[in-house]
Amino acid sequence: MYNYDEFMANLERRNPAEGEFIQAVGGVVESVIDLVNDNPAYINAKILERITEPDRVVSFKVEWEDDDHNVQVNRGYRVQFNNTLGPYKGGLRFHSSVSLGSFKFLGFEQTFKNSLTTLPLGGAKGGSDFSPRGKSDNEIMRFCRAFMTQLQKYIGPETDIPAGDIGVGAKEIGYLYGQYKRIRDENAGVLTGKGHLWGGSLIRPEAAGYGAVYFAREMLKRYNDTLEGKRVAVSGFGNVAWGVVKKATELGAKVVTISGPDGYIYDEEGVSTQEKWNYMVQLRLSNNDIVAPYAQRFGAQFIPRKKPWEVPVDLAFPCAIQNELSLEDAQSLVANGVKYVLETSNMGCRREAENFFIAQKIPYGPGKAVNAGGVAVSGLEMAQNAMKLSWTAQEVDDKLQQIMQNIHKACLTHSPEEGGYVNYVKGANIAAFKRVADAMLELGY
Ligand code: GLU
Repeated sequence: MYNYDEFMANLERRNPAEGEFIQAVGGVVESVIDLVNDNPAYINAKILERITEPDRVVSFKVEWEDDDHNVQVNRGYRVQFNNTLGPYKGGLRFHSSVSLGSFKFLGFEQTFKNSLTTLPLGGAKGGSDFSPRGKSDNEIMRFCRAFMTQLQKYIGPETDIPAGDIGVGAKEIGYLYGQYKRIRDENAGVLTGKGHLWGGSLIRPEAAGYGAVYFAREMLKRYNDTLEGKRVAVSGFGNVAWGVVKKATELGAKVVTISGPDGYIYDEEGVSTQEKWNYMVQLRLSNNDIVAPYAQRFGAQFIPRKKPWEVPVDLAFPCAIQNELSLEDAQSLVANGVKYVLETSNMGCRREAENFFIAQKIPYGPGKAVNAGGVAVSGLEMAQNAMKLSWTAQEVDDKLQQIMQNIHKACLTHSPEEGGYVNYVKGANIAAFKRVADAMLELGY
């Protein structure tokens, strides 16, 4: 029999100073501990201990030269967390804040997220403390070349298939894939999120954001509601936020905020035109990591150094980074009448914020369910690569919608009924855990 506090104390002892990893594991263990304690097969096979320990952690040195001919040294990582359900799969993050603990939390989350997609994908994550902010395109290219020169030793189309994440978009994937081909002379789809000209899938750039809105649509349906006429707050201005903004607008909602590390934009007219969406892409490609110029360009308000959770809205989609939404932010959203919260960034809400939404009976979708559309379409990209075929945008989008509906259904199936309120956190964690744990039992050790 497991005791939550005891298990977590042990985990902390084994993984000192890895707060984000402990937080991510704590969320899942809390949801599944009763299920495990009721199931002697899980206890005897030590599933909880095994599922919280990464299969392999790789760290490597990345040496490159900046535009002033100075030698730069960064650290690269790949955490191959769990390959029970399929080859390791998960993105690469280039951000100055990362550490081994962040990649362990992300690889752990990815294992469960990928399980929810029902595709044959294990979980992994990697990246570097290199930040593209303020770098020239040539510097980014040189860094990507140096990074892939090391990473290529550990990945392969049947072993581990990285993709993008924060700081790694289509441009970086291009430089990384180019170097992989140069070294290995293989046209294997070893990365996803590739450009369409060289093996990428249509709809992959939009997938995480579109998927989050498709999940929201199912959630609202469950409460006899629709997106039509709803006011929406989005944080972030990257790929994921961009997809949410586009699809939410298309389905009749009005997105009034986006944000960056410098503050947030309040656009009463709605971030609702092709011109504004193109501008979001332009802002991202500038490598400056700021949203302020949007305000001037479109006559919107810029609120410096603040987050958008103080604006009255019906739906909130945190799409920026982990722990971006605190308990105070959650309280402010609820005080201002928020009706649904869709965590779209990985672990975007602090545990206290998440628990507050649930206590207030606000329908709350956790990131591993809400943002699974990105990696799901990566799985579809792998399938197209293996078949040497390319599906139409409509075909991919139809499959994405089906996957998001199924994830929503799985959450309902495994959520305990709490007087008509759906606890999506429990539902998602239990559904995801069961699939990995049952497969682990079948595969032995
Ligand atoms: N980085 C994305 C995620 O957090 C996508 C991963 C992938 O496509 O492999 O799920």
